[in-house]
Amino acid sequence: MIRQFARFYRPHLRLVLIAFGCAAASGLLELFFPMAVRAFIDHLLPRQDMQVVVLAIVGLLAIYVLNAALMAVVTYWGHVLGIAIETELRRRAFDHLLGLSHRFYDEQKTGHLVGRVTKNLEDIGEVAHHGPEDLLIAALTFAGAFALMVMVSPELALLTALIVPIVGWAVAHFGGRMTGNWQAQFRRVGAFNARIEEAVGGIRVVKAFANEAHERRLFAADNAGYQRTKLDAYRIMAIGTTFNYLGMRLVQLVVMLAGAAFIVAGSLTIGDFVAFLLLVNVFYRPLEKINAVIETYPKGIAGFRSYLELMATKPDITDAPDATPAPALRGDVRLEGVGFGYDPARPVLRGIDLSVKAGETVALVGPSGAGKTTLCSLLPRFYDVQEGRITIDGIDIRRMTLASLRAQIGLVQQDVFLFAGTMRENIAYGRLGASDAEIMQAARRARLDGLIEAMPAGLDTLIGERGVKLSGGQKQRMAIARIFLMNPPILILDEATSALDTETERAIQAALTELAEGRTTFVIAHRLATIRDADRIVVVTEDGIAEQGTHQDLLARPGPYRRLHEAQFAS
Ligand code: ADP
Ligand code: MG
Repeated sequence: MIRQFARFYRPHLRLVLIAFGCAAASGLLELFFPMAVRAFIDHLLPRQDMQVVVLAIVGLLAIYVLNAALMAVVTYWGHVLGIAIETELRRRAFDHLLGLSHRFYDEQKTGHLVGRVTKNLEDIGEVAHHGPEDLLIAALTFAGAFALMVMVSPELALLTALIVPIVGWAVAHFGGRMTGNWQAQFRRVGAFNARIEEAVGGIRVVKAFANEAHERRLFAADNAGYQRTKLDAYRIMAIGTTFNYLGMRLVQLVVMLAGAAFIVAGSLTIGDFVAFLLLVNVFYRPLEKINAVIETYPKGIAGFRSYLELMATKPDITDAPDATPAPALRGDVRLEGVGFGYDPARPVLRGIDLSVKAGETVALVGPSGAGKTTLCSLLPRFYDVQEGRITIDGIDIRRMTLASLRAQIGLVQQDVFLFAGTMRENIAYGRLGASDAEIMQAARRARLDGLIEAMPAGLDTLIGERGVKLSGGQKQRMAIARIFLMNPPILILDEATSALDTETERAIQAALTELAEGRTTFVIAHRLATIRDADRIVVVTEDGIAEQGTHQDLLARPGPYRRLHEAQFAS
């Protein structure tokens, strides 16, 4: 893990040198001070010459100013380094999220994921800066202070060294427990983030059922879980800090006792004694950072683990190594013996053979849950077939790059996802960079121009989060306008009008018919009246394709289509 982390420093070698170089220099200056005090007491003071004293003080001042400058450089440029690494990690995490496929998102909660690219990475950034720098200063001051201590008084140095194994054990023990605790905290935060995200995202449903009390209860459980984990953390920290504090003070007292004895015996000067006590402080300073050791580092380590975990989830749908960009497709779609199940043990589709000519409109009808949506989601490779293959214009879709394939398949679903923003932005999502004239033309063909012209802000009208300020029919028209802009040769209309009232459905039908013109179109609809004119109707049931033909053909014989038809038009 450390090696993986170190790789992020490589592009910033110059910053690393500046920050760590200054940190090292500052650490060495810290060592100089106790020795200066010793010389001051033992050699300068006895001369009783104020001029020399003032000179020495001015010299010390210069050293302090230098040290302050070094620390300022470390604080600023060290953080520049930390933030650079954090930004890069976040870019990669977001990029990775965009690359993960439907199968991953089927299992995930948004709240968890958002935490992973925000808070976690901030913690890592903090460690990216302080971690190696503190280690470097710690190692330098530790070794340097000890060497000077031995020089001043080997016996006292030995006594002081007794504390090292004790503190070493404490750091390993409490630090380890804290890393585990931080991981638990991340999970807890993820859980309640997800809960907030769901309650707020579904606030209209919550209110419609007056289920605020229920949501409050669910949230209280997650909130209390987080509180418990956090309390564990503070307990570990309290014990760890106390342990460390007492251990260090104890040794200090022992050193004072022994030092006093040596002075009385005449084997130690006052200057040696004072210098030694100051050195002990420098020696301990890294150990006093126990709080950093059990808070910042474990947090960063846990965050980095979570980051690595996310990066280790590989998307199951990717470009094959030998994939090539699809040419402009005509739209001959063939499914050959296609089998697929979300859980391979429970297939949804088996042995599906279907051949659709370019420009043909095929309606898929059948009972809910038969697999119509699933079948259509195989075309843009939201999921990959497990048996058989799908070709477009004779090319296996797995041999095309994903981007070039998906750019040629337009999809309109029952629930339209619109982004919080303007009408212009949302329509232009069909083809980024389209001009206003092109956007207005698409809007006109989607029968949206009336609405846009009626709005005072026109295309700049804000439509609210997920388009809440639009009616169902208007949202559907936005989705259609997007596809007009995109202009793909293949079109999937999955219950595009099912959620609308018959009146609105009829109004939108004209736009959809125009949209389907000249494109290979798959229409899924449960209101049979809307697909009567399709070139072909395919009846999909749990056992596969039950029958296919035109509306007239299928009505003429007893079969599932006629039964569906009679059921809908009876009364
Ligand atoms: P239809 O569109 O014909 O109503 P679907 O294709 O949506 O049917 O669903 C077919 C079957 O696959 C159903 O049993 C459904 O529960 C299951 N299913 C649909 N989507 C998923 C998914 N993302 N993960 C697991 N199972 C799914
Ligand atoms: Mg469906």
